[in-house]
Amino acid sequence: MRYTRTATALLISIGLGIAIGAQGRRGGTAVKPGEECPPGTTETRPGSCQAPEFPPPSILDYRPRTTLVAAEHKVPRAKFPVIDIHGHPPGISTPEGLASMVADMDRLNLRVMTSASNTSGARLTQQLAVINASPYKDRFRVLTGIDFRDVGPGWAEKAVAQLEADIKAGAVGVGEISKSLGLQIRKRDGSRLRVDDPDLDPVWQAAARLDIPVFIHTAEPQEFFSPLDYKNERWLELALFPDRRNYQPEQVKFEQLMTERNNLFKKHPKTRFIAAHFGWHANDLQRAAAMLDAYPNVVVEAGAILYDLGRQPRAAHDFFLKYQDRILFGKDSWQPEEFPYYWRVFETRDEYFDYYRDYHAFWKLYGMDLPDEVLKKLYYKNSLKAVKGMPTTGWPQ
Ligand SMILES: [Zn+2]
Repeated sequence: MRYTRTATALLISIGLGIAIGAQGRRGGTAVKPGEECPPGTTETRPGSCQAPEFPPPSILDYRPRTTLVAAEHKVPRAKFPVIDIHGHPPGISTPEGLASMVADMDRLNLRVMTSASNTSGARLTQQLAVINASPYKDRFRVLTGIDFRDVGPGWAEKAVAQLEADIKAGAVGVGEISKSLGLQIRKRDGSRLRVDDPDLDPVWQAAARLDIPVFIHTAEPQEFFSPLDYKNERWLELALFPDRRNYQPEQVKFEQLMTERNNLFKKHPKTRFIAAHFGWHANDLQRAAAMLDAYPNVVVEAGAILYDLGRQPRAAHDFFLKYQDRILFGKDSWQPEEFPYYWRVFETRDEYFDYYRDYHAFWKLYGMDLPDEVLKKLYYKNSLKAVKGMPTTGWPQ
C-alpha cells in the first residue's frame, strides 16, 4: 500500500513538474552547460534543475513496476549439458550432500560441478573418496589449492610436492587461486606477495609439466577500488560489504594487480591459465579482447559478471562469437535458483529483465541469443579442452 502511494505521489510530482514547466514560471536552480545539478535536484529543462516536491525514496525503496510488455522466455534448464568450472559446492564431503546437489544439477542440466575451493591434502582425499564411492563419480571434479602462507626460501619445493601429491590423488587442476593473492597475503619477510612473485614460479612450471590448468581470481571489480561516492556504480554493494572496499590509499591498486597478473601470464606461456570472472574485464570487452590476444595460454571464466554481459547484449554476443574457443562457463556461489538467469541471458533474445541481485546491478538484463555451437563451447567443449581430467564421454557433438 505504501508503495502504491509513493508511486502515486511520484506521478503527481512528475505531472506537476510538466505543468509548471510548461507555464515556465516556477524557477529552478540554474546551471551552466556541462555543470551538474546540485544534490537533491534533477535537470528539468536545459540549464535548469529542480527538486521534487515530495521527499525522494532511497535507492533501496524505489522499485518501480515496469509497464513494458516484453516477450518472456524463462530457461529453467540449459539447452545443452553444462560443466561449471567455478563451483563452491557445499555438499561434496558426504554422500547425502552429493545426492541433494545432483537433484538440483539434473533440473538445471548441469552435468559436471567442479569444486574450486582450494582443497588440498587430507580434505581433498576425503572428498574424492566420497565422490568415487558414490553413483555420481562423473558428476563432480575437484581442483586442488596452493597454500601461499609463509612464502620464502624452501616454500616452493614443499608446494610443488603437495601439488604433485594432490594431482596423483585425483585433483584435475589448481584453483581457485584466491583474490587474496595480490590483495592481502604477505610473504615470510612481511612484504606483500605479488601475483608475479618469482618465488611462486616453480608452482606454475609444475602445472605446465603436469598438464593441468590454473584457475586464478585476481583483484575485484574495478569499482571496488574507487572511492565510495555517489558516482560509484557499486555503491550499494560496497556499503553492504565492508570487506569489498579496496579503495583506501594504502591498499594495492587495481591496475597494479592487472599488471602483476599479466606478467604472470606472460612469464609462463606453457602454463594454461583460466582467468576467473573474465579477468574483471567484462565491463570493458576491448580490454578482455586485448588480454586474450596477448596471452594465448589464457581463457576466461564467465562467473559473477552476468550483469555486465546482460547490459551490453550486442557487444557481448559479438565477443562470444569472436572468442568462442576462449570462454568457460562458471557460476561461483552455489545457488541453484540463480543459474537460469545465465541460461536466459546466453540463450534468448529477451529484453529488459531482472538480474538476481539488486546490489550487483540496479539495471536490467538483455539476452545475447548465442548460436548453438557457441553455447556448446561455452557450456562444456571449452572446459573439456582446458581440463584434461573431465569426463570425456556422453557429450553431444
Ligand atoms: Zn570462486
